[in-house]
Amino acid sequence: MIDFQGTIEAIYNDLKQTPEKGIVASYIPELSKQSSESLGIHIQHIDGRTFQIGDWNVPFSIQSISKVLALSKAIVFENKRIWERMDVEPSGNPFNHLSLLEMEDGIPRNPLINAGAIVVADILITHLENPKMDFLNYVREITGDDSIDYNLQVAASEQQTGFRNHAAANLLKSFGNLNNDVDVVLDFYFHQCALEMDCSQLAKAFFLFANKGICINDNKHISSSQAKRINAIMLTCGFYDEAGEFAFEVGLPGKSGVGGGIVALLPNNFVISTWAPGLNARGNSLLGMQALEQFTTKTNRSIF
Ligand code: GLU
Repeated sequence: MIDFQGTIEAIYNDLKQTPEKGIVASYIPELSKQSSESLGIHIQHIDGRTFQIGDWNVPFSIQSISKVLALSKAIVFENKRIWERMDVEPSGNPFNHLSLLEMEDGIPRNPLINAGAIVVADILITHLENPKMDFLNYVREITGDDSIDYNLQVAASEQQTGFRNHAAANLLKSFGNLNNDVDVVLDFYFHQCALEMDCSQLAKAFFLFANKGICINDNKHISSSQAKRINAIMLTCGFYDEAGEFAFEVGLPGKSGVGGGIVALLPNNFVISTWAPGLNARGNSLLGMQALEQFTTKTNRSIF
């Protein structure tokens, strides 16, 4: 039996000593208030056991991690049709890159780069009656936690500085790949990214991807085939232009966000989440990546 608690304690104690902790994101001004000293780790095992250490219960902005949750809702409405509006190839480019979108006629490379996530937001707005509330309720339901909410200051902060997202949405619109108003879609997208969760809530939210589409409350939300496909997209596209490095170092499907969170999972086994706001040059949590690399190496648990 693996000593999960002992393993994450050893990793935590090691990483707390590291002098190099990365740089906190500042392009969304609200995020710059976080400390690069924070570090939390949480494991939600499929059998119900949990293990945690450090700042695992401090809420943070999940940012791009929300793109996976939005995709899991949109895929239920559109199923395979969703892939007519975006691809499933890694971009090899930063999350807010625009030139590929222009070259590829407004079809985003995948649903986890910003342009793809903005198309997913457009799909949700088309299908949901009260998009922001209905999406929040979906996240609360799959997590089994009604206290989860949007951080409105973070959403407003990004609204004011999200120039590249405005550019991406307008480009998509010009190619006919947005059905709703640019401002309405972006308002939804900025709120989705401003969802706040702690490591424990995040691990619970991703439980359904490790459990063939069945959430922690035992309700089926997506098919096992859809869960398989979403995991494949996380593995190939979940870490900006560092997805190859994450697969190489860690070997699990996962998703990171510029708030410093990472969530990764081993299907039929566990979900592990980390939070450490200091980012590396590619925008992924520096200590989070190191924690997960140590974790899969020490426990010998990865998809490979
Ligand atoms: N809301 C952020 C943006 O669109 C998300 C970025 C991220 O976490 O990668 O710029």
